[in-house]
Amino acid sequence: MRAQPKASHFINGEYVEDTAGNVIECVYPATGEVIARLHSATPAIVEKAIASAKAAQKEWAKMSPTARGRILYRASQIIRERNRELSELETLDTGKPIQETIVADSTSGADALEFFGGVAPAALNGEQIPLGGDWAYTKRIPLGIVLGIGAWNYPQQIACWKAAPALVAGNAFIFKPSEVTPLGALKIAEIMIEAGLPKGLFNVVQGDRDAGPLLVNHPDIAKVSLTGSVPTGRKVAGAAAGQLKHVTMELGGKSPMIVFDDADVESAISGAMLGNFYSAGQVCSNGTRVFVQKGIKQQFLSRLKERTEAIRMGEPLDEATQMGPLVNRSQREKVLGYIEKGKAEGARLLTGGGIPNDVSSEGCFVQPTVFADVTDDMTIAREEIFGPVMCVLDFDHEDEVVARANATEFGLAGGVFTADMARAHRVVDALEAGTVWINTYNLCPVEIPFGGVKQSGFGRENSLAALNHYTELKTVYVAMGKCEAPY
Ligand code: NAD
Repeated sequence: MRAQPKASHFINGEYVEDTAGNVIECVYPATGEVIARLHSATPAIVEKAIASAKAAQKEWAKMSPTARGRILYRASQIIRERNRELSELETLDTGKPIQETIVADSTSGADALEFFGGVAPAALNGEQIPLGGDWAYTKRIPLGIVLGIGAWNYPQQIACWKAAPALVAGNAFIFKPSEVTPLGALKIAEIMIEAGLPKGLFNVVQGDRDAGPLLVNHPDIAKVSLTGSVPTGRKVAGAAAGQLKHVTMELGGKSPMIVFDDADVESAISGAMLGNFYSAGQVCSNGTRVFVQKGIKQQFLSRLKERTEAIRMGEPLDEATQMGPLVNRSQREKVLGYIEKGKAEGARLLTGGGIPNDVSSEGCFVQPTVFADVTDDMTIAREEIFGPVMCVLDFDHEDEVVARANATEFGLAGGVFTADMARAHRVVDALEAGTVWINTYNLCPVEIPFGGVKQSGFGRENSLAALNHYTELKTVYVAMGKCEAPY
């Protein structure tokens, strides 16, 4: 098996196995080839991971932020040196084309380690508060052991986005990758140790839906940071609330992208394609409801069709491939089911809609698909599909489109394409979303906060804002005179 790791879990600086756990089979989504076989965590593995994290965290928290940051920076450099190897593994794990993984996955993880390693010495300071004689100060202290739980679309990136702020703030970190894509995080763990991270601070515990709750419910876990779907978010946040744990919830979306008549049409089509076909549409912040003002509808649709039909699908490890398969068969069945629903409910299939002919029949490919004349009540306009399916809806007026864009339980992201900057800012102000782009889509550099509102979650990843979610404040009141009491 070409991607078999030494063992399933990485705990206290080394690979650990426990074959009593349920088997996790890793399949290359482009061909159906089994590339590794792992085991889900048993209670013994969970206890081992938590014991080692607990033993390491106190000393780690005593180190200076500069010393902690230096280790993260070293890890970021090793990741960049091994980008090719890590990207190939990410492609095997997820099926995403190497053209994408080489620029968007481990490199984005390295960005997070570099950014948080660099800013921590200045960003973890407290405040001094004058009280007219007496005074107080605050300290930003770590939470303890942070549990990260990953989705399957960006396994290495998610591991690093959560680990970097958690570790630099003095926490220990345990990562449970998605059981669908368990491989990349193990390599990141190896690299962290090589960079000088003390053992026990970055543990990887594999787990399916049975093992996940063992970790979430463990009393020694202080915080859970989940990237996943809304139903999982409800379960995990509910379990965490039972023990009053801190949570960050990065959940799903059905984000609107609004294209006004005065927009640069080619640029807006690029945005719509990026926001629907990158990673075969398996991106949480995708702009899957593309609202196009009626004046440019025909022009938009005819160029969109032409450009979509030119997308090169195929073997993801081939550098020329622009779009790979979905992550597994069940995701493909789910996406094909939504396409059938779209047709049945009266949306007009502009292009795609099925399985391509010229790729491996064992692969989980779905053609890039565009529906036109979609209306707000259709299932494909309301539910997160998580596949390469774009819905194009028409609109007449600004007020109308803003109201329709906001008529969803989700609130992860949104986009507006227009040449009128006053209108752009007016519309982004009115959109109920955590991140909004003007004249581009889906760019998430580490410097900017990322996260959702409404049912898309709470808490933020990246930027200085993330550090607040991995620390808490201790307030110290300092009396300068005697303590006076009325009795
Ligand atoms: P999922 O919700 O099925 O699983 C996410 C993770 O949660 C997996 O590791 C899974 O094993 C674990 N899990 C499931 N039930 C659990 C439980 N009861 N206790 C503990 N852990 C449990 O999501 P997925 O299918 O892997 O990923 C796709 C979803 O993730 C989409 O909805 C997408 O929008 C969302 N997503 C959000 C973001 C974001 O940043 N907002 C990023 C990527 C993906």
